[in-house]
Amino acid sequence: MTTGVIGSIEATEAIKLCLGTGSVLAGRMLFWDGLRSETDTIVIGRAPRCISCGGKAASSGREERS
Ligand SMILES: [Zn+2]
Repeated sequence: MTTGVIGSIEATEAIKLCLGTGSVLAGRMLFWDGLRSETDTIVIGRAPRCISCGGKAASSGREERS
């Protein structure tokens, strides 16, 4: 059941991103508690020097070394 729930959430996120609508989980991590059938989310901050999520990630097109 859990894999079906997570797969459905991921598919919904992909559809929202493709359509450019709704509120996506970007910047947050979702936790699924299958025993209680509950979810929770926490905010994930960006790492300023990270090549994936840092501020210059999309604009520079090259790796930034520290
Ligand atoms: Zn990062």
